Amino acid sequence: MKWMWDPKYETMDREELEQIQLERLQSTLHHAYRHVPFYQSLFDKSGIGPGDINSLQELREVPFTTKGDLLRGFPYDFFAVPLAKVARIHTSSGTTGRPIVVGYTRRDLQHWGHLNARVLMAGELGERDVLQVSFNYGLFTGGFGFHAGAELIGVTVIPASAMGISRQISVMINFKTTALVSLPSHALRIGHCLREMGVEPKDTSLRVGFFGAEPWSEAIRHQIEDHLSIRALDNYGLAEVGGPGVAFECQYRNGLHINEDHFYPEVINPTTGEALGPGEEGELVLTTLTKEAFPMVRFRTGDLTSLEYKPCECGGTLVRMARVKGRVDDMLIIRGINLFPSQIEDILLSFEVGPNYLIRLYREEGLDQMEVQVESPVAGGERAPLASRIMKEFLDRLGLDITVKLLEPGTIEVSKGKQRAVVDEREI
Ligand SMILES: [Zn+2]
Repeated sequence: MKWMWDPKYETMDREELEQIQLERLQSTLHHAYRHVPFYQSLFDKSGIGPGDINSLQELREVPFTTKGDLLRGFPYDFFAVPLAKVARIHTSSGTTGRPIVVGYTRRDLQHWGHLNARVLMAGELGERDVLQVSFNYGLFTGGFGFHAGAELIGVTVIPASAMGISRQISVMINFKTTALVSLPSHALRIGHCLREMGVEPKDTSLRVGFFGAEPWSEAIRHQIEDHLSIRALDNYGLAEVGGPGVAFECQYRNGLHINEDHFYPEVINPTTGEALGPGEEGELVLTTLTKEAFPMVRFRTGDLTSLEYKPCECGGTLVRMARVKGRVDDMLIIRGINLFPSQIEDILLSFEVGPNYLIRLYREEGLDQMEVQVESPVAGGERAPLASRIMKEFLDRLGLDITVKLLEPGTIEVSKGKQRAVVDEREI
């Protein structure tokens, strides 16, 4: 268990772990009920008291908490301690208007550091490493979360924060960075820039990267590993439950170990809300088990995944979640088939096209149709054969007839952040 920060919890017997989860859950429910009016009325309306939950399964009786509920509680309605006891405030990225404001007590901050130390330790980080944290150190949870974890391990930390790519690269080269924390898209851009500058990735000291805070595919992972000559590990977290440190990949990269002693995960059918079994894909719901300032009960994350309870090859026993396939809101339904833009992106990446693309959905004679517009540098005459090769791949892998239209590079507007490039004209 050399590469585990907290082997006691990370390799605990399921029975013992569930006992701890239940005790922490009961205490969280009482705490939330007593101090957050939203939870008091949620319980009262559903006719259940926090003392009625005597097993982990009984949590299913409690209604969900949604992002909408949190937004209506702006800024402090969900705080379960007085502001005087709140040691730090962060917020969600707030891409759609008001952000969600999240508080941490001193003890919450300590836990947060340890959870992030688990993430970094699983990437075999030690005292000799130099870690460049390229997440923003502002209200966003990423920078400070990883920073705290790195300091606990004793890594040399470079709080690079959100500076431009060329400065990130010069810091990386001059300071002999061995490990990088960033958005996967940021790592890709660094990789492209290194190429343009004529720097061979193996000439840098970089060997491992921890990427998260936006969905990314296996194809992107391969590109990052290739361009930066590193091992790329996925991690998962979200501001509403405290930020990074919820789940992480170990060296076996066989799903993300969820820090179950601090978060109780469930997967539900996003339409009916019904609980799903191990291996079944649905929406991840999280309940915090140790949060003092901002306890969350059955928070609907909007992220699609599945759970695997078999112990991992690394010896860890924490449940593993599959890499997030997409957001519930992003899921497209075409002729009854569920599809994510990320699946389209994955296929496009294996052809000489991109990076920009646009998915257009429309209806023809009552039937759903889909068109993918993508930029390609290939010459005019080679476009038709390339387009039909991509269409064949879509049909083979997704079971859908999708029209492919190749466009000149620079003609599609770049999609920003988490907004996917989808135009749905079917309602009209
Ligand atoms: Zn593992």
